[in-house]
Amino acid sequence: MEDVKSALFQSLKSSQQTSSPFLVSSGGTTSRAAADKHWVLDLRKNYQNISFDLDKKIVEIEAGVTMGELSSYLKKHKRSFPIGLSGKTGMGYILTGGISPLSRSKGLAIDQIMEIKGFWGNGKEFHLLRPNSKNECTFEWKALCGAAIFLGIITKIKLKTQPLRPLLSWTANLSFSDLSECINQAENWPNALSFQWIYGEDIFAHAIGEVKNTDDESILTNLLESLPFSRNRIIKKFNDMNSLPNLSLGNNKNNNPNHSEVLGLLGPAWQDSNSRVLKTIRDLINKRPNKSCYLASQQLGGLTHLNDLDTSFIHRDAIWKPWINGTWEAYDQSKRKRTLKWMEECWNNLEFICPGVHLAQIHPHLAWHKKELSSAFKDWLPKLQELKAIYDPRNILPPLQ
Ligand SMILES: Cc1cc2nc3c(=O)[nH]c(=O)nc-3n(C[C@H](O)[C@H](O)[C@H](O)COP(=O)(O)OP(=O)(O)OC[C@H]3O[C@@H](n4cnc5c(N)ncnc54)[C@H](O)[C@@H]3O)c2cc1C
Repeated sequence: MEDVKSALFQSLKSSQQTSSPFLVSSGGTTSRAAADKHWVLDLRKNYQNISFDLDKKIVEIEAGVTMGELSSYLKKHKRSFPIGLSGKTGMGYILTGGISPLSRSKGLAIDQIMEIKGFWGNGKEFHLLRPNSKNECTFEWKALCGAAIFLGIITKIKLKTQPLRPLLSWTANLSFSDLSECINQAENWPNALSFQWIYGEDIFAHAIGEVKNTDDESILTNLLESLPFSRNRIIKKFNDMNSLPNLSLGNNKNNNPNHSEVLGLLGPAWQDSNSRVLKTIRDLINKRPNKSCYLASQQLGGLTHLNDLDTSFIHRDAIWKPWINGTWEAYDQSKRKRTLKWMEECWNNLEFICPGVHLAQIHPHLAWHKKELSSAFKDWLPKLQELKAIYDPRNILPPLQ
């Protein structure tokens, strides 16, 4: 163990200006959580603490806690946190923005951060508190809320929590025209509801709403009952996010292991472009190189637009976050190449309606990293690069160019 430690520190010390062989893993769900010939700082084992301040209703979590564990813990205190579509993700979910099905009424995960602790890439420890107003917001706070993974290793954060309320869930399989109509309706919904869908071999959708009271419940139920579907419609009430069904096509039944990359986009409501966007998506799906490739999307809006403090999630006006999932048979380089090419084609063809990128997954190992950085951070990127030169001068953490 000592040998490993000293070799790790030696490697960090001697790392060059770019591409140091060092990765950080919290939930471990992305393709950059581990890679051959890299040291991995896996925070899952030794950063498991959670505590709750009963008066302030603030929870403190260490970096190895998954969103599912956070949700279960808070349930005991009748509180909740806007976790994403999977409880398996970890601190990376929060640090990269955190778009929850409840974000339209609760804001993004980064909007809940009250305190943040960790080590900059230069090794110095930090502990920042949420500023009281926009005027007090520092560049460091703005950078850590949405771009932390490029600048430091986060060990602990304090988060606001919300009352635990029941959730209404609508799931169904859709035809192509149903999807078009569902998206039209969802773009006119109140913030309490959000719509997410996945399109591959089939089209499956999941609408989720928070129930505040009985009046609210009948309004939401009416809206959900108006959605078209082709089969398997289920409307059900759940106690918390952890219990909701997965947004999945359930088609990963072959025995060969697959590898994949995911690219998240961001853009406005489709409105009059609805049929153009969906036709583009259908063409892309029809030529996907592997049956497990798919396109999916989740809905933003409402409170995700409220930016009371500056953060690095600059696409506050986005309404949809479509993401491209590219899959290939593990270890087959030519199939990997074909899939990555298809992903780029998807990105190019959807860019007219999705000018932004959500860096929930980063790809410093791929040629498009430069483009994903500039689409994610736009005018804010040069300042982030300046901060990186101060706080991570040896580029130990993922590169910002
Ligand atoms: C099934 C599934 C559902 C998802 N649903 C949503 C969703 O609804 N909304 C949404 O916004 N996203 C969603 N995501 C995306 C997910 O939140 C991001 O990919 C997130 O980065 C994963 O975080 P992680 O901790 O699990 O992953 P990891 O692979 O451990 O980390 C991801 C990246 O963050 C960095 N990192 C992780 N922890 C730290 C740390 N403590 N300090 C510094 N850097 C760190 C690492 O460098 C790594 O590159 C989903 C992903 C999956 C697999």
